[in-house]
Amino acid sequence: MTNYAFSPAAVPAVEIRGTDALFPVRRIFCVGRNYADHAREMGNDPDREPPFFFTKPGDSIVANGATIPFPTATQNLHHEAELVIAIGLGGADIAPADAAGHIFGYAAGNDLTRRDLQSQAKAARRPWDMAKGFDNSAVIGAIAPAAEIGHPEHAALTAHVDGDLRQSSDIDQMIWPVADIIAYLSGLVTLCPGDLIMTGTPAGVGQILPGQTCMVEIAGIGTAAVTLGPA
Ligand code: MN
Repeated sequence: MTNYAFSPAAVPAVEIRGTDALFPVRRIFCVGRNYADHAREMGNDPDREPPFFFTKPGDSIVANGATIPFPTATQNLHHEAELVIAIGLGGADIAPADAAGHIFGYAAGNDLTRRDLQSQAKAARRPWDMAKGFDNSAVIGAIAPAAEIGHPEHAALTAHVDGDLRQSSDIDQMIWPVADIIAYLSGLVTLCPGDLIMTGTPAGVGQILPGQTCMVEIAGIGTAAVTLGPA
């Protein structure tokens, strides 16, 4: 056995629908500006930009139904409802036509964002890490295996905050669909089993306050609910 100076951290994991087995998480990649209406609401031109990526730590995972402490250092915590791709087979330079074979399954997710810190980072041309990759920032629901549900091209995607509808779209509105995201990202890094990809959010992002519950739902795939603790 390796003589570590202290015990290594546990492997973060996500539930898999219909089984006791867990999906061991390696990395979390996220796509920016992948819905035209959201790109416009953030002041960008959706037609001009190839996909770009940022990351969250694998241990920023929060399970569906959890209550988390309200994040520190923000006065403007936002929800972003997103389809999550779970990679089951690694690879580099994956062709779009081969992408489906690398997908273990799909989940609903919420890319929690410190929007105030993100705005400051954008203005200062600094990285987004502390706006996006903080503790408990990746709410990921149970994974629906592709072996069961296939590879859905259309599915209603919604976010409700305390029951009020905030975001309503369809995964078919993504500028870069799933196969293209995998092809593009696998040209930048070698994808590995356990990687998760959050695929971007539609319009309607907004604030979640202390004590509120945000529920993301993707029809036929699953839910990702999170409740915020007091400030
Ligand atoms: Mn996002």
